Amino acid sequence: MKKIAILGSTGSIGTQSLDLLENNSDFQIDYLCADRNYKLLYSQILKFKPKYACINDTNSYNELKKINISSTKIISGTVDVLDFIKSRKVDLAINSIVGISGLKPTLNIIESGTALLALANKESLVMAGEIVMQKAKNMNVSILPIDSEHSAIWQCLHGEKQSDLKKIILTASGGPFRKLSKEQFKNITIKEALNHPNWDMGNKITIDSATMMNKGFEVIETKWLFNIDGEDVDILVHPQSIVHSMVEFQDTSIKAQLGYPDMKIPINYALNYPSHSKLDLPSLDLSKISELTFENPDLDKFRCIKLAYDSMESGGTSTSVLNIANDISVDLFLNKKISFIDIPEIIELCIEKHDYINNPSLEDILGQIDWVKNYINELDTNN
Ligand code: MG
Repeated sequence: MKKIAILGSTGSIGTQSLDLLENNSDFQIDYLCADRNYKLLYSQILKFKPKYACINDTNSYNELKKINISSTKIISGTVDVLDFIKSRKVDLAINSIVGISGLKPTLNIIESGTALLALANKESLVMAGEIVMQKAKNMNVSILPIDSEHSAIWQCLHGEKQSDLKKIILTASGGPFRKLSKEQFKNITIKEALNHPNWDMGNKITIDSATMMNKGFEVIETKWLFNIDGEDVDILVHPQSIVHSMVEFQDTSIKAQLGYPDMKIPINYALNYPSHSKLDLPSLDLSKISELTFENPDLDKFRCIKLAYDSMESGGTSTSVLNIANDISVDLFLNKKISFIDIPEIIELCIEKHDYINNPSLEDILGQIDWVKNYINELDTNN
């Protein structure tokens, strides 16, 4: 039986992973980590009986303590939780924490000696791709993607030679605003931005899909995961979300992976790699879908895509600042502090104004968090 840990267990990927593991006797849940949703974590503890459960928020910990009568040991507080992750070796850990707070857990999982890291936190690679990949290599850790596009690429590249790879084509649904004019972007509401046409996901990633920053992040994620130049990663808008990505080889032959948009497929593949083990889902019926269409993304409307490519090109701390500024801007938008079109404006300013560092250390990268927070605060008070 494999020992498994799920970080971000109360989020969208976390709960779907637990659904898959519920009747799977190959895995035993060793520990679960959540940020603050103690009620859901409690029901997960009762159902899955992990050895340990971590909760970041100390107020939520106090609430959990009142109701927890199980034999699961509870760990709380960000520092203690991070120390625990570093010290606890399992066979496979899923990191599905949302946003930049997923980076330290990623590094600590790698340091724990856990051999397989199933990564749904793309921000770890956007923030510190070089450091994460180098550390994984040094510690002999395999990083398994849990992102539908990267799972598709991984499947397409299975058994292929790296030198045969010419190009990767990431598909994108285009989000809910594909057909809006640039003028109409000014009036986009939170409710409209949270209404994704194909994928059912958490709030943060749904806004990232609406701005298409999610796709920009995925280009950077692709560069690190598959060791390819960023300029050889293209984006193609495919509104049906059936083709999850494609790989082109030197002879121009293209392989694609298809399926209904359901995150259980990439999660299941990461859990059982290299097996495509059985899932109880309807088979893809292409005759019902009848039409698969493709178009280039509109970089003028979706400025976040260009910001991501440009920051990837300049490297150093640029992608870290891109990521931090995006996390904060999305939060401000969700709290009605800024409008939808302010998001790329703020991110661009942050990248432009920050003190660029080439080959940054982890401290250099983490140091950008406070700088970006302060800078955005000042922008707010000056307006
Ligand atoms: Mg994706």
